[in-house]
Amino acid sequence: MKDWQTRLLHSDTRVPENYESLAVPTYRGSTTVFPSAGVANDAWDQWSAGYTYGLYGTPTTLELAGRICELESGFRTILTSGGQLALTLVNLAFLRSGDHLLLPDTVYTPHRVLTSRVLGRLGIRTSFYDAQAGSHITKWFEPETRLVWVESPGSITMEIQDVPAIVEVARSHGILVAMDNTWAAGIYFKPFAHGVDISVQALTKYVGGHSDLLMGAVTVREQKLYETLGSTSQALGGGISPDDCSLALRGLQTLAVRLSAIETSALTIAKWLTARPEVEQVLHPALASCPSHEMWKRDFTGSSGVFSFVLRDGVSKERVHSAVDALQLFRIGYSWAGTTSVVMTYDFGSVGPRARYGHRLIRLSVGLESTNDLINDLEKAFIQLRS
Ligand SMILES: *Cc1c(COP(=O)(O)O)cnc(C)c1O
Repeated sequence: MKDWQTRLLHSDTRVPENYESLAVPTYRGSTTVFPSAGVANDAWDQWSAGYTYGLYGTPTTLELAGRICELESGFRTILTSGGQLALTLVNLAFLRSGDHLLLPDTVYTPHRVLTSRVLGRLGIRTSFYDAQAGSHITKWFEPETRLVWVESPGSITMEIQDVPAIVEVARSHGILVAMDNTWAAGIYFKPFAHGVDISVQALTKYVGGHSDLLMGAVTVREQKLYETLGSTSQALGGGISPDDCSLALRGLQTLAVRLSAIETSALTIAKWLTARPEVEQVLHPALASCPSHEMWKRDFTGSSGVFSFVLRDGVSKERVHSAVDALQLFRIGYSWAGTTSVVMTYDFGSVGPRARYGHRLIRLSVGLESTNDLINDLEKAFIQLRS
């Protein structure tokens, strides 16, 4: 009999086998043990090499990656510890010093910050193109342009991009196209069917869906891209928690009903807003009055719960803030796609392509409260806008 100290670590307990749960088991692990010294290896691609190290995947993390890949109809998915890191990983994997990068001028702000604060230092130049350029994006192409990002709809101002047109010209110039597909939750827009090479999603948003986890996913269309991405990911060494993956796997089980309820509620609220005298414009691509509605109808199969509206000209910033502060159900916060409705105001200042919105834009993320209660909340808050 071994000493009790040893038995704490090497127990003879054997539980019955063949337990089956409906939930994907949560495997925590750093070291992965091998059956013999001869087969031990440290390859990063767990799909082909088997399990070698917890950082590169466990059955829990690979199950989530596999399911995201299936939803996006891609070749393989690599998970990251946040959506922002997924954007970073793509840029570091596919760009090198001397390369030129194109981002839409409506890009998610932290992505813009990454280019100025980090990529520039590495000798990677970035230009910002008109998100509405479509095939005219060629005006921004340079001999060193290696990667174009699309984000559709654009963050906060909700412009739908002509992704197929951009893909067509990028491909003819040998430029890769990556997409931030977070708004569509990997469901309502199919990047690979539209010719995109790399798709990124912040799983923090609709897949997690309950404002309690941070995670990102990068999905690629083919093996060569996967090798570049995976080997870079291994070298950078980002890890994700199997416990968080388990939350995301739970989120997937209710994604369909959450998205459907949220879509209906958001559309009802958006339509209500279009009839309000305080509102100049509602920026929801599924509304016929939205500038990019036709492109949305052509390429998307649905809409999620995030949209913006612009208050009438002349309203002071103080009144906009008072109205937002008066909301009781919509909580003030940046991240979105949870079950609780969230609101944020933005000030676009007086220069740049979005200056026309000034400080009058309010973004909503509609959650699962009753639609009537949310409308009443907005109606009461709008009293603050009266002068
Ligand atoms: C939230 C978000 C991200 C980043 O996700 P995090 O998990 O918060 O880092 C990236 N792109 C878009 C469009 C987002 O809305």
